Formats: sequence, C-alpha cells, structure tokens
Amino acid sequence: MDLHQCEVREVHGVGAQKAVELNSMGIFTVMDLLEYVPFRYEDYTVRDLASVKDGDRVTVQGTIIGEPVLQRYSGKSRLSCKVMVDSFLLTAVWFNRHFLKDRLRPQQEIVLTGKWDARRRQMSVSDSEFPGQAGSNTGTIQPVYSVTASMTQKWMRKVIAQALTQYSAMIPEVLPASITGKYGFLPRSKALALIHTPSGVEEGKQARRRMVYEELFLFQLKLQAYRAVTRSKADGVKQQVDLPAVRAFVRALPFQLTESQKKVVSEILHDMQEPYAMNRLLQGDVGAGKTVVAAIGLYATVKAGYQGALMVPTEILAEQHMRSLSRMFEPYGLQVAMLTGSSTDRQRRDLLASLQMGLIDVLVGTHALIQEDVYFRQLGLVVTDEQHRFGVNQRSILRRKGMNPDVLTMTATPIPRTLAITAFGDMDVSTLRELPKGRKPIKTYAVAHGLLERVLGFIQREVGAGRQAYVICPLIEESDKLDVQNAIDVHIQLQQHFPDMKIGLLHGRMSAAEKDAIMHEFKEGRVATLVSTTVIEVGVDVPNATLMVIYDADRFGLSQLHQLRGRVGRGEHQSYCVLIADPKTEVGKERMKAMTETTDGFEIARRDLELRGPGDFFGTKQSGLPEFRIADMMADFEIMEQARDDAAELVSDSTFWTGAAYMPLRAYLERAHIFDSEVLD
Ligand code: ADP
Ligand code: MG
Repeated sequence: MDLHQCEVREVHGVGAQKAVELNSMGIFTVMDLLEYVPFRYEDYTVRDLASVKDGDRVTVQGTIIGEPVLQRYSGKSRLSCKVMVDSFLLTAVWFNRHFLKDRLRPQQEIVLTGKWDARRRQMSVSDSEFPGQAGSNTGTIQPVYSVTASMTQKWMRKVIAQALTQYSAMIPEVLPASITGKYGFLPRSKALALIHTPSGVEEGKQARRRMVYEELFLFQLKLQAYRAVTRSKADGVKQQVDLPAVRAFVRALPFQLTESQKKVVSEILHDMQEPYAMNRLLQGDVGAGKTVVAAIGLYATVKAGYQGALMVPTEILAEQHMRSLSRMFEPYGLQVAMLTGSSTDRQRRDLLASLQMGLIDVLVGTHALIQEDVYFRQLGLVVTDEQHRFGVNQRSILRRKGMNPDVLTMTATPIPRTLAITAFGDMDVSTLRELPKGRKPIKTYAVAHGLLERVLGFIQREVGAGRQAYVICPLIEESDKLDVQNAIDVHIQLQQHFPDMKIGLLHGRMSAAEKDAIMHEFKEGRVATLVSTTVIEVGVDVPNATLMVIYDADRFGLSQLHQLRGRVGRGEHQSYCVLIADPKTEVGKERMKAMTETTDGFEIARRDLELRGPGDFFGTKQSGLPEFRIADMMADFEIMEQARDDAAELVSDSTFWTGAAYMPLRAYLERAHIFDSEVLD
C-alpha cells in the first residue's frame, strides 16, 4: 500500500470532520500524518522537587494530605489540595477540572505535572495521574504537536499513535542502503516511530538526526536533480569564446590576476561555452576583485558575438562601472552604454534602438535594464548582484523576449560555502578566496562617542598625509529623511572644525547628477573627506581613501559594517576604520568585538549569522532560504553539508537514474515535479 496515496481518514479515530481539520493543516494522507513530527517533547520523568527552579515545568510524585477544596466563579472552577512531595508540603491547583474532586482522597499517591511556583509553594497542574493507572504518562516522554484550536494535544497524540500501530510496518525506506549504512541510520519506519514516542532523550535525538538528514538530503537531491535536468535540456546560449583574445585582454590589465581569479574566470568561461544557461554565484570578500572578473566575462561574450549587461543596485555604482568598463574596453573598440532611471526619454529611445540593432556591446544600468521594453539583439551574458538575483521571474521576462543568457550573480557578502550552496542551491558557486597581494589588513577601533576629538584628530592626520576619509552618518532607523538631516549636520560640524578642508556631502535625496559630481570630485581627490549616508555602501572604489569613520556603528548589521569598511584598504596605504559606538545591546557589543577582531569577510558573515539568524541575514524577501520542517539551518549545518555532498554524488552517478535501489528517490522527485517544471519551490 502506498501511504502517500492513502487518505488520512483511513486511520481509526479520524472521522470526516477531523479529516477536514487535518487537511487544513496540510495533512491529507497517512504519510503526511506520520511525518507530522512534534516540535518538542514533554518529559514526565519524575523529579526531585529540590532540584526544580521557580517557574519550571516538572513532574513529581507525592501523597495527598487533607480534603480537596473546590471554588466556583463565573462558570470557572479552581480545585486545590495539599500534597506532600518528599518533605515539601505544596498546594496543587487545577483549573476547570472540578470533576476530579471526588477522586482526590487523603493518603492517596498522585503524580502531578505542572508549573512550579516556588514562592507560593504551589503547582499549577496541567496533568495528574494515579500511579499504576492504565495509559499512564508517568516516566515517559510525550510529543507536543502544533494543533489547531478545535483539536487537543491528547487527540493528536492518540491519532498519531494509532497511525503508527496501523501502518508503521508499511512505511517504506526512502534512503538508499548505501546511505543508511554509511551513517548507521535507523530504518525509516523505526525512526518515525521513535520521533513520535521516544523512550528516552538519546533515542529521540537519534531518530531526529535521521529525519533531519533525510529532509536535507531530499531537499538537496531536488536541487541537484533539477540542475541536472535543466542542463540536459541545454537551451541556453553556447558561446564560442575567443581564448587568445581573452588572454590578451587579461595580459593588458595593470595587474596579474590572483590564483582565485584565474580559477573563477575559467569556471565562467567554461559555462559560457556550454549549451546550458549558466547560473553562477560569484562570491568574494570586498575588494577581492569581482568586478574585473565580471569585465573579463563581458569581454568574452562580446568577442563571441553577443551583448553583455551589467546590472547594479544604484546609479552611483552604474556610473562608476560605466567609467571603468569604458576605460577597460575602449582600446578594443567595444561600445559601452548606460541606462538608468534618470536617463531622459530621448536618451532612452536612442539607446534602446541602438541596443536592438546591436550597436551597443555592453549595457550598464540599474534594474531599468531588463524592463519589458528593453530588447537586446543577442544577449549572451548578464552580470548582476545579489539584490537582483535572477529569480524565475526575471528569467521568464528574458525568455519571453527569446533570450536565455548566461547569468553571473555577484555577492559582496560572502557567506559560508555550505550555506551558499543551500540557499542558492540552484546555482553553481564560485568563490574568490584570496585578496590581491600586498593588501594590508584594515586596522579597526571601536571608540565611545565621547572620544570625538580624537576621531577628528585622526581625520586631520590622514588628510594631512594626502589621504582621504569617509564619515558615515548616524543612523536613524526607517527614516531616510532624518538620516539626511544627520548627514547635513555632521557635514556642517566638520566644516566648522576644519575650515580649510574640502568636505563633500552625499545622501539619497540628491539628484543623480549631484551625487555623480561629488563622487567624481572625491575620486579625483579634490574632496578630502566625504560625509555620507549609507548610499555609499556598495562597491565604491577610491584607492586613496584610508579612513572610514562610522557613527552609531553598533546599530548597523555586521555585514553592512564590513561592506562599509571595505571602502578603504583598497590601495597601497595602511587603512583604518573607526567605529563610534556606545553599545547598549549585547548584539551591539558582539558586533564591535567581531569587527575589531577580524577583517575576514567569511568570518564576519559567520558571526553575523550567529547573531541574527539566517532570516535577517538575507532579508526576508530576497532570501529564498528554504524552511525546513524538522531541520534547523544553523544547528544542523554539518548534516546539511554531508547531505549536499551525498546528493551531488548520487545524481552524477548514472545508476541513480535507472537502478531499482533508487526508485523511491526518483518517485520523490517525480512528486516534486522536478521533471516537468521549471519552477523550484
Ligand atoms: P570587489 O568588486 O570584489 O569589491 P574590485 O573588483 O572593485 O573588488 O577590486 C578592488 C580593487 O582591486 C580595484 O581597484 C581593482 O582594480 C583591484 N584589483 C582587482 N584584482 C586585482 C589583482 N589581481 N591584483 C591587484 N589589484 C586588483
Ligand atoms: Mg552557456
């Protein structure tokens, strides 16, 4: 019998009405019910009251002393009774269980479970039993399920126990023997039985470990299989990369590529030459040199007869990339153009026409770049950033225009590889591990607000030595307007303090032209100190800037602080980061500690995850992070890594697709619609 097909009504005790309720919880089949695992357990092991803390939930055994007292008030009732537990005399209190009154007799032994109020020597009883009573919970560990209002915990326990009795012998194994053998996992039927009713904590853990692995493994298998299937469809662009031309381009760069860059470039060029559409994540610390890698890819696509696009989050960045790409590509006669929200109608019309005729080789811009009315003649490669990660939506916009380009997504917030692979599991991941040679680690200090004078002295010293500084302004949550006001205030203060210094101001309410003008002056060194809101954050590259001052640093996220710090340390000079903060929160303190202890972006990301949890890390919308029923992304990290490797190995083995041993896994993929749909969910 296929328990995936067997309706939940088949379980004894589930009537038509309850079946509907279960359905509303996503439980349709017997298998769904069996896989409805508890989110925690209640431990009815009898304890010694002396070891119990105030407010804890506990199970104790004692003797009833004296008569029970029942009080009734407005339809409710309170039943109380003295109970001697070891040498404690306590008051047991039941609410709305008046029917128990006649059963409580002096000198009778009783087991009480409830919340202990040490000060009043009182226990609010949630469960009580007489020793030896049939179906007793005493000494057991009971599952706690999430249930709806019209359903009791007790009913759920009973129905799941019943389902186990009826069907546990029929629960098929999903994992192949190679894997259960490798890890010594319990068989699936046994693990499911024990996860619902473990006889001890250790046993519950063992069962859970297997189910966690299984969940992560199946998730990974889905991603890996999906990728394998889309690859075999091969409906992307197969680009003929002109390797000698690309090599010449690389040789002409003012520096040597790092080993990491070389490796990543070859991964990208390899994908571009394959008939499937590349979907690759390029991650690397700030300053690791991602942009030049992207430029090489764009150059290769143009040389192969295609157009390229570079999509960035802000106009400042678009302008910066526009300039640097133009400079790099000019000697080779490539046409680079820019399209942003502030292009005029006329510019836009001309540009779109040129683009469609193939007169533009590389288009740089904000998200305006893939809007419905933008048509490329032949788009080969799109480079974008994390915030514009190409989801199914964007891909389908492009597809409707008859394009399925290679896509390279860059992220400047490196995340642990394992997490990257999981969170962005439909992508290949390339990592720039090393920074270009000769970079000096940025010296970082956390100081209190009272030390502002010293900070000003620091600015004086760096600027006096011919360097430049950034000052990031106090952060007001949720209020761009107040942030702007802060920036204006700080700008005035600094200008008063340093009357002879040229100090620039940059914030989000300035027009693109104004921002551009200021950035340009800062880049050229005509502005010595730039006061800015966080609009400066991503990717801005001014190698002569050596000092980053951040106000209210404890209020920024760690990854954001690291991003900001990454604006300095980009040239040959020693750079500094001064974090002004009087942390009021534990998280704030931890952040300051992390920032002063390490400059390694991967380490920062790891700590950020610890401090915030993965949901916050990615922001809810763009996260695409999967939610698991049993597994926990952070706590089960290592299991996830194993599961990922195991799934990858399996999918690459041809026997997986045909062998009888893998039938259950293929059936699972079938149910997940891996073979008939492009959509991953
Ligand atoms: P990212 O985008 O990864 O933050 P960038 O691509 O902006 O980093 O590179 C940071 C700086 O390092 C740029 O000025 C760039 O020209 C320079 N750079 C990139 N690769 C190398 C290299 N291999 N050797 C020396 N400098 C490099
Ligand atoms: Mg390709």
